[in-house]
Amino acid sequence: MKDLSKIAVLGFAVISLTACKENQNDSAEIMAENAQEEHHEEGHISLTQSQAEDAGLAYGTFAQEEIKVPIEANGSIELPPNNMASISSLLNGFVVKINFLEGDVVKKGQVLVELKDPAYVKMQQEYLSVYGRLNYLEQELERQQILNDADVGAKKNLQQAQSEFSAKKSELAVLKEQLNYAGISASAIEKGKIQNRVYLRAPFGGTVTSVSAHNGQKVMSGQEIMQVINREHMHLELQLFQKDIPKVKKGQKVQFTIPAFEESPVFEGEVSLVGRNLDMDSKTIRVHAHFEENDWLIPGLYTEARIMQDSKKTRVLPTSAIVSDKGTSYFFVKTETEGDEINYEKVAFEPGIKSDDYVQIKKYDKIQDTTAIVLNGAFTLKAVMNKSEGGHED
Ligand SMILES: [Zn+2]
Repeated sequence: MKDLSKIAVLGFAVISLTACKENQNDSAEIMAENAQEEHHEEGHISLTQSQAEDAGLAYGTFAQEEIKVPIEANGSIELPPNNMASISSLLNGFVVKINFLEGDVVKKGQVLVELKDPAYVKMQQEYLSVYGRLNYLEQELERQQILNDADVGAKKNLQQAQSEFSAKKSELAVLKEQLNYAGISASAIEKGKIQNRVYLRAPFGGTVTSVSAHNGQKVMSGQEIMQVINREHMHLELQLFQKDIPKVKKGQKVQFTIPAFEESPVFEGEVSLVGRNLDMDSKTIRVHAHFEENDWLIPGLYTEARIMQDSKKTRVLPTSAIVSDKGTSYFFVKTETEGDEINYEKVAFEPGIKSDDYVQIKKYDKIQDTTAIVLNGAFTLKAVMNKSEGGHED
């Protein structure tokens, strides 16, 4: 409608340079009075040559245009669970150092946080002592084996050595597992290197999205200290209504905005997957779309998206050629010129898809001359027609 009134203003600019919304109607009225001709047949109107010029009427024919009709789908920015990590320690400890701040980019394996606790050293000492004991038991087992082979040792001693050795071996395996879990290298301890810190490393490259501890703080095992996300696989998860399922497919362009942003820019993306499961409650399916990396786009943001359907060229008229009356759509054609008088006829049609600029013309009432369609000024003709027919405005 915005476009129509703009065109109407343009049309009347000649008559009144200061044309505004209210006196548009006045102007139409003046023109309507002047147009009180003998023609009063329904759907017909005539204007003089100069009236038509003043109204800025322009003629032409149908155009073939691609009408892109977006499909609305709302959703949010999501991150697959594997691309989000909560950095926490498996051991209690005191924070010694936090190496990155919110927003920092980290590489896989980089040390993010350093923790300290006397218990770490104790754990390693325990490992070392079990390790040493296991070595001794291994030698003892070998000795008993030799004695037994030579038939000089008691069978019982060999069995005991065997069972002590395997018990210690599994004890060591458990400790080793615990140390590895905590990020302490057992093989370093075996070489005599005991560390008094635990280093928490980045499980993958990404961005630090939150830091929830500070130096000197005691953190408990499992407590989140930092969050890292891999933004690479961030995507849009959209809910598509069932009626639109046949229209959406992989590769279609997606434009989306973030309503939470005061003046959200339009972001661009592309459909990468169309779900196959209908959610029975919402009657929607999920559409997965990828977009270009942008710092503003973070997981959890609500989005309003438009999926751009594939379009075919279709017969259209510009919206400035279209008026509607009592629910029926019309355009006007110039039928004949008698002297100074130009005759117009209102033609009903069935509108198809619409965009901001064009309306698809599906079926229309028969017309002789398809080259004399009023492309600009239909709104003026309608106003004049309504007045001269003593009709209404809607
Ligand atoms: Zn994805």
